[in-house]
Amino acid sequence: MTSLFPALTGGSCDRPAVRFGERSLTYGELAAAAGATAARIRDVRRVAVWATPTMETAVAVVAALLAGVPAVPLNPKSGEKELGHILSDSAPDLVLTAPDDQLPAPVGDLTRLDVDVHGTGPVPEDHTRESDPALIVYTSGTTGPPKGAVIPRRAIASTLDALADAWQWTGDDVLVHGLPLFHVHGLVLGTLGPLRRGGSVRHLGRFSTQGVARELSGGATMLFGVPTMYHRIAEAVTGDPDLVKALTGARLLVSGSAALPVHDHGRIATATGRRVIERYGMTETLMNTSVRADGEARPGTVGVPLPGVELRLVEEDGSEVTGYDGETVGEIQVRGPNLFTEYLNRPDATAAAFTADGWFRTGDMAVRDPDGYVRIVGRKATDLIKSGGYKIGAGEIENALLEHPGVREAAVTGEPDDDLGERIVAWIVPAEPQSPPSLDELADHVAGRLAPHKRPRVVHHLDALPRNDMGKIMKRALGHG
Ligand code: ATP
Ligand code: MG
Repeated sequence: MTSLFPALTGGSCDRPAVRFGERSLTYGELAAAAGATAARIRDVRRVAVWATPTMETAVAVVAALLAGVPAVPLNPKSGEKELGHILSDSAPDLVLTAPDDQLPAPVGDLTRLDVDVHGTGPVPEDHTRESDPALIVYTSGTTGPPKGAVIPRRAIASTLDALADAWQWTGDDVLVHGLPLFHVHGLVLGTLGPLRRGGSVRHLGRFSTQGVARELSGGATMLFGVPTMYHRIAEAVTGDPDLVKALTGARLLVSGSAALPVHDHGRIATATGRRVIERYGMTETLMNTSVRADGEARPGTVGVPLPGVELRLVEEDGSEVTGYDGETVGEIQVRGPNLFTEYLNRPDATAAAFTADGWFRTGDMAVRDPDGYVRIVGRKATDLIKSGGYKIGAGEIENALLEHPGVREAAVTGEPDDDLGERIVAWIVPAEPQSPPSLDELADHVAGRLAPHKRPRVVHHLDALPRNDMGKIMKRALGHG
């Protein structure tokens, strides 16, 4: 297929490509380093990448893509059990590492190959087909053990080009992010995205609002983050004129991987006049929808289907939702060149994930506003509460709770109830641990904003919500899902 990264072989050698902290590579240097590593793995069947937030990881993944060898990014923070599962499932022949990486038990047993970011080698000729597997990325494990999604080259190319269209993303853009590199957000969008455009990426190593302010003031044009990062920005922005100025000057602020609380969206907009754009995607599908750069960033929505992506909502009885009324809830199903091929070694799970006519069942429930904007109400498995004959999405209750001054973080689940079928349970982190808001107060607050049947019947106070590496709330750990 045509190259995933035309700028690596085009005439833009001296342009900046990737920066991690003090270390940076131009396109010419990246092509040489990735070419050198590609030559060393050429005859290998599959590689793992010890995906620390470093230059070595970026070079390793680009090298694997150039060599046409599928790469499995590993989360260095995973425990031994999860790494063991991923390694026995994906059976890589070796692991690409940085010279100073210390590898824990199951990974240390693999043959290791240290990436030399100053290496030099030619970019190999491209013999790949668009259906060839490019990456095997394990899902975040929010709802169960991570599954290895086999992502073809076609999906990477098509999703990045669709985002370029939606976001007017060009080679002049400079992206800043502090996301991990073992999920599609930080890796495919945040690292491969700028490289496909011929632009550049500056990785913060570790996210901080100061780092964001510094990079956006110093020439970066776009920021990608997960909601926990925008939450930190929302908390910091009112007292930080440098951050306000930096965000105001940015071309695009994008959030994804989980729902951005409406409260944080509002606080950032009030302080900066800038609205964060939300996009919705999955490991299995890469990106499905987004607010467009020239569109309205409506809080609580994830925009419209990206070019090339077909999207439909399907009700429990199998009928497709027709007409957009902003109310009828259905499961999001998608079809398009952005889809994965299969779950590795899981023909059962793969078969269950697709309908007979090739639509992928996302497991996410949504409504569509009259103009087609998609509004995610939550995951089918954990976020849809059936109470008193109503189907209630956890997300809108969480958003309402977060508007209460006594609530810092909120998660909502359902639990069995003799009367109602399920009752609504709120898990909150109080703003003032000494004087948490009472159940009555929160129930009145929600009933007043939404509807009486959406009020929580039980409230639990926690010091922190259980979250995974992407800041996603692990509802499983709250005894649900
Ligand atoms: P697992 O599949 O292992 O349980 P996961 O679904 O969290 O984990 P990912 O593929 O990383 O793994 O995440 C995709 C999910 O993230 C989507 O199905 C959706 O529920 C959620 N998501 C992504 N972007 C958004 C968004 N903008 N708003 C709401 N939810 C989102
Ligand atoms: Mg999932």
